[in-house]
Amino acid sequence: MTYPQTRLRRLRATPALRALARETSLTAADLVQPLFVCHGEKVRRPVASMPGQAQLSVDEAAREAEALAKAGVGGVILFGLPATKDPEGREAYDEKGIIPKALRALREAAPDLLLWADVCLCEYTDHGHCGILNGDQVDNDRTLPLLARASVAYAAAGADLIAPSDMMDGRVGAIRRALDEAGHAGTPIVAYSAKYASAFYGPFREAAESAPKFGNRRGYQMDPANSDEALREVALDLEEGADMVMVKPALPYLDVIRRVKDRFGVPVAAYSVSGEFAMIRAAAENGWLDGERAALETLTSIRRAGADVILTYFAKEIAPVLGRVEA
Ligand SMILES: [Zn+2]
Repeated sequence: MTYPQTRLRRLRATPALRALARETSLTAADLVQPLFVCHGEKVRRPVASMPGQAQLSVDEAAREAEALAKAGVGGVILFGLPATKDPEGREAYDEKGIIPKALRALREAAPDLLLWADVCLCEYTDHGHCGILNGDQVDNDRTLPLLARASVAYAAAGADLIAPSDMMDGRVGAIRRALDEAGHAGTPIVAYSAKYASAFYGPFREAAESAPKFGNRRGYQMDPANSDEALREVALDLEEGADMVMVKPALPYLDVIRRVKDRFGVPVAAYSVSGEFAMIRAAAENGWLDGERAALETLTSIRRAGADVILTYFAKEIAPVLGRVEA
């Protein structure tokens, strides 16, 4: 059947018909808000390159978590700013470090909110790389036990999900074994499986104070030109025990999200990173586009590509809009 019998405009005629025919849903529960947690009290230090986002002390982060839970946001993912940095990133796996402290406070403030703990060393090392160094190279195998220790410390402090973002080979297996041995067999791992060496992380590095002091991360993060390799990364992480896999960034890698979803049919998270947020926010502040609509369209596209969950800096402001949105 073709025109005039077929008229695709029939199902676009009214808001109710469009809602009926809509293929992709976006709800507050699909969104996870990243939070940057620092030491101190009543600290709310704005991140210049991410208007609306701030480094928060634990008390402020707890208030934020309460508000996010009320807004129906699906969860928060925590990034820590240590008191001091050193070559081994010690505070990352200190049971009394910033993340365990934040997890305990947030659990109390928002008992039902899912708490994700990002696991990496780059915020904690003085050189800013994601593992410990051997010369000027990141030492994969010596980094694994430290990531495992951090994961156990976070699970013990109440993390609902452990999310390793370091891109070391074998870390999911090492973390799974350590969690199981420590009595956390029920704690799921969300692996940052396909994490690309991306220019879009710039604002995050200001927020998390995690820019590498020399070189770059191309020796462990993925080459933006590759997507077969992303499938290999995902396959390995699933074999090692990942419960959910992640693609990061999201918008420049929608094809990778789709391939992962089609190939494996497992729960997929996508991290819409700081640069994706900053681009929309900056354009909106200049009056060049409608920021809210652009954010909604972007997040919908990431869901449409196959992501079940989206980590996004828009979670807090978009969540209240989702109930009343007419796309
Ligand atoms: Zn890192």
